Amino acid sequence: MTGGTIRGLGVSPGVVGAPLARLAPPVRTSPADPVTESPEGALARVEWALGAVAAQMAERADRVGGVAAEILITTSAMAADPSLVSAAAEQLRAGQPTGHAVTLAVEGFCAQLEAHGGYLAERVTDLRDIGARAVALLAGVPMPGVPAPGHPVVLAARDLSPADTATLAGSDVVALLTEEGGPTSHTAILAKSLGLPAVVGCPASAELPDGEFVLVDGSTGEVRVGPDAMGGVRTGSVGNGPVGTGPVTSATGPVTSAAEPAATGLVKSGTGPAATGPGRTRDGRPVALLSNVGTAADARAAAGSEAEGVGLFRTEFLFLGRRTQPGVDEQTEAYAEVLRAFGNRPVVVRTLDAGSDKPLPFLRLGAEENPALGVRGLRTAIRYPETLADQLTAVTKAAHSVGRPVKVMAPMVATSAEAEHFVVIAREHGLDDVGVMIEVPAAALRAGELLDVVDFVSIGTNDLGQYTMAADRAAGALGHLLDPWQPALLDLVALVGAAGRARGKPVGVCGEAASDPLLAAVLVGLGVTSLSMAPVARPAVFAELRGLATEDCAAIAEAARSGVGADQARDRARTVRDERWSVRP
Ligand code: PEP
Ligand code: MG
Repeated sequence: MTGGTIRGLGVSPGVVGAPLARLAPPVRTSPADPVTESPEGALARVEWALGAVAAQMAERADRVGGVAAEILITTSAMAADPSLVSAAAEQLRAGQPTGHAVTLAVEGFCAQLEAHGGYLAERVTDLRDIGARAVALLAGVPMPGVPAPGHPVVLAARDLSPADTATLAGSDVVALLTEEGGPTSHTAILAKSLGLPAVVGCPASAELPDGEFVLVDGSTGEVRVGPDAMGGVRTGSVGNGPVGTGPVTSATGPVTSAAEPAATGLVKSGTGPAATGPGRTRDGRPVALLSNVGTAADARAAAGSEAEGVGLFRTEFLFLGRRTQPGVDEQTEAYAEVLRAFGNRPVVVRTLDAGSDKPLPFLRLGAEENPALGVRGLRTAIRYPETLADQLTAVTKAAHSVGRPVKVMAPMVATSAEAEHFVVIAREHGLDDVGVMIEVPAAALRAGELLDVVDFVSIGTNDLGQYTMAADRAAGALGHLLDPWQPALLDLVALVGAAGRARGKPVGVCGEAASDPLLAAVLVGLGVTSLSMAPVARPAVFAELRGLATEDCAAIAEAARSGVGADQARDRARTVRDERWSVRP
C-alpha cells in the first residue's frame, strides 16, 4: 500500500504521524536449525550480538530516566555479562546451531535464577528478552517486543497484551495501531493513560509494511498512509473539543503533537467554561470527576490535574509479568506512592483483577477453556485467600503510613454473598469504606442487594458491556456490540443508579463509558454520582456537565434509552442535549 486511508476504531485521542514499526514475534530456535558457521566464527557473532543488545539497552536507559532507566541498566549489564558468552561458547562447542546456543545459554541462567526465587526470579523475563533480541540480531530479523529504533514510531501489532503495553512508557512509540482490540480493550485503556493516540480494530493495518509513514487519528479512527499522510496540518476531535495538531514535518523525526487533551481546544476556544474546580452539573449537583490510574507514574501525572481523586487504581497493572508474588512491604510502598501523590483526595484501590486478559503469572490459575468466564477478579481470592489478605494488609499499612483514609473495592463480583465476603475481610483489615465493582449483569440486576452490604459500587462498563453483549472486549470485529451506548447496557446502569438513589449510596462509573462527554451526561441522568476516567478525558466531561442541569441529564438519558441500538441511542441523546446545553452567563 503506498497511499490512501484505512479505518479502525479511534480509542485514544490525538493525531500523530511517524513511520510504522511492528511488534515482531520472537524467533524460535531449535537444535535442528542448520549449523552454517564454525564454532569460532559463531562465537564472535554471539559476542557481537550480546554486546549490541547491551549497548542498545544502555542507550535507552540514558533516554528514559527514572525507574525504567534502572531496569534497563541492570538488563544491559546482564547482556554484557561474560558468563553468558562462555555458556553460549560451551553450547557451540557441543555442536549447537548459533541461535540455539544462545537460547540454551539463556535458559540455563534462567533455571538458576528461578531456583533462587524472589527478586532474582523476576529477572528471568529480562534475561529471556536479551536472548530473544540477540537471536533476532543473529538471524538478521527485527528484534522482538516494542521496537526501539531511536526515532518516533507508530507501533503496529495484531493486538497488544497488557504486558506489552506496560513497557511503552518512555519508549519511541508515539501512537498505536492494532488489527484487533475493541474500544474497552486494555490497549485502549493504557494508550489513553499514556496519552498515546491509538486506533484499534483496524484489520487493514496488517498489510502495511514496516517503515511506511502513517498519520494516526486516535479520535476518528482514520489512518492516512504514505504520501497521503504527509499532507500537512491535520485536526482531529473528540467529544466537543477540537484537538489542534502541528504540521507533519518529516518522515522519521517527531511529527505532530500527540494526544493533546480533547477539551483543551474547547477550553482555549472559549466555547465552554474553564475546566477548573470540582465536577458538577449546571444546577450545582456534585459529580466527582476522578482519575483511573495503574502505576505511580500515572498517579503523579493525574494528581497534577484537576482530578478530584482516584476512582479506580488498577493494582494489577503494577505486577503484570511478575512470576513471584510481591511481598507486603513492596505492595505497601507501591500503594503509598499513589496515596501520597493524591494528598487528601480520595483514592479507591481495586484489589487485584487477575485472570483472563490480565494474567498475573504468580497466581497460577491453570489453563481455562473460557478465561473471561473463569477464575478472575475476586474469584481468585477463593483459591488464593492469602493473596487478598496480603494485599489488604498492604493497603491498610500504606494508608497508615501516609496518614489518610483509603477506599477499597473488589472486581468481578456476581452476588451479594461474594460482596459480603469481601466486606467482612476488608473490615477485618481495618478498612471501613468498602465497595465492589458492578461488572457482571447479575450484579447489576440485583444491585440493591449488593448495595445493602457495601458502602459504594462502581460500574465497570467495559466488562459489564462485554458480559451483557456476550462479546469479547478484545475482539475488534465486535466493536459495534461493545459500544457503551448499547441501550441494554444503559438499562443495567439505570437499575444500579436507581438502587443507589433508593439507598443514598454512591454509584460510580469507572469504565471507558465515563470518558465520553455525552455518555457521561446520560450516566449522571441514570443516577451515577461520580465518574472516573483517564485524565486526558476530564476537561471535556467537565465542560459537558457544567452546561447541563440534573433534569437535562435525566431527559438525555431517557432519550438514549428510547433508542433501538447504540447509534439511535447516541443520536437521540445528542438531539436532546443540543436543545438543552447552555453555559450559565
Ligand atoms: C471495567 O471493566 O469497566 C473496568 C473499569 O475494569 P477493567 O477495564 O480494568 O477490567
Ligand atoms: Mg473490569
